[in-house]
Amino acid sequence: MQCATAHKLLSLRIDGELDDRRAPDLAAHLRDCPSCQAFARELERCAAALDAVSVSEPSADFGARVMASLPPQQSTSERWTLVRGLLRPLPMAAAVVALALGITLASLMNGNTTTTPTAEAFESDVYAESFSALPEDSSGARYIALVTDGGN
Ligand SMILES: [Zn+2]
Repeated sequence: MQCATAHKLLSLRIDGELDDRRAPDLAAHLRDCPSCQAFARELERCAAALDAVSVSEPSADFGARVMASLPPQQSTSERWTLVRGLLRPLPMAAAVVALALGITLASLMNGNTTTTPTAEAFESDVYAESFSALPEDSSGARYIALVTDGGN
């Protein structure tokens, strides 16, 4: 048996996968080969070291300790206050859009296209009045600026 074959068989033996029929050949080689004897000892030493660092099961309270170490979460009410603040301008914007749509539909149903500019002017006035209190950088104010400037 060559040393390379003996190394492969030693590796199988350390994993408990060495075929019983090949074990006598390996034992015979090891008796006569100091190099493979040293390799076998080194392999067993490495396997023992790996066994020593095997992964252990987490303790029963591991999950609770991890959760306790996390920073406190924002409460649900704090999060909803933030969401409501972001959505506050939307109902008024929706009301204005519905009003504008109603005016446009009414003018279309009358079949009188000459009233459309007047309706648009009225829409602009409604927008300006409804959103005059909005902060300049709010989405509602930006929408109105877009709609009223686009009409010109
Ligand atoms: Zn050998």
